[in-house]
Amino acid sequence: MPTLAGMTWSELASRPVVLVPVGATEQHGPHLPLSTDTDIALALAQRAALARPACVVAPPVAYGSSGEHQGFPGTLSIGLEAIRMVLVELVRSASSFATATVLVSTHGGNRAALDEVRRTLGNEGHRFAIFTPTWRGDAHAGRLETSLMLAISPGRVRRPLAQPGNTTALAELLPRLRAEGVRAASPSGVLGDPTGASGGEGEELLATALDELLLVVDEFAQRKEPTCPELL
Ligand SMILES: [Zn+2]
Repeated sequence: MPTLAGMTWSELASRPVVLVPVGATEQHGPHLPLSTDTDIALALAQRAALARPACVVAPPVAYGSSGEHQGFPGTLSIGLEAIRMVLVELVRSASSFATATVLVSTHGGNRAALDEVRRTLGNEGHRFAIFTPTWRGDAHAGRLETSLMLAISPGRVRRPLAQPGNTTALAELLPRLRAEGVRAASPSGVLGDPTGASGGEGEELLATALDELLLVVDEFAQRKEPTCPELL
């Protein structure tokens, strides 16, 4: 599976579809590693590259906008403006050699930044997409993310420590999270209930997201370069 970091410039002659995993470094309860969002984005991008040889996986963006998790040790947030600028510049840069660039994003806290990235780049003519899986489930470090990590990297899940956190619906909880941070709403950092998580469920979630991602990739890979209009 080709990775951008492992290739030489001369091996990139065929204008690849560049997949940039976009995650975060933030607390995910006492049972999941701080790299959880990045691990999930990277796993998805890697699976897509295995399925489509036109793709290469760029080094992941492992930092994002995670201010609401700052009450927990280990969270490293660069904030909305910094991640916005990083992603805008990465797409501009990749456009010089890529058929298209796909930001594979799995960190919900980056949503506002990604909206701005889309707006900023929208009129610049780059071929790019922002892909976020449409998983439904609990909000943070619950059954959804624990299942995904059990599929991706089971040895790094501290299973005995996976306990229910605050299970209030995210929409209801959001104003408090924004005002007071996650720690005020959930002392463990878990928003959801990871106890029913399983690797099998995680594999199904990954397969669904992979299908969605491959649709995006195939659209770029099949689209022909614009042809010159006929002279009148
Ligand atoms: Zn997460």
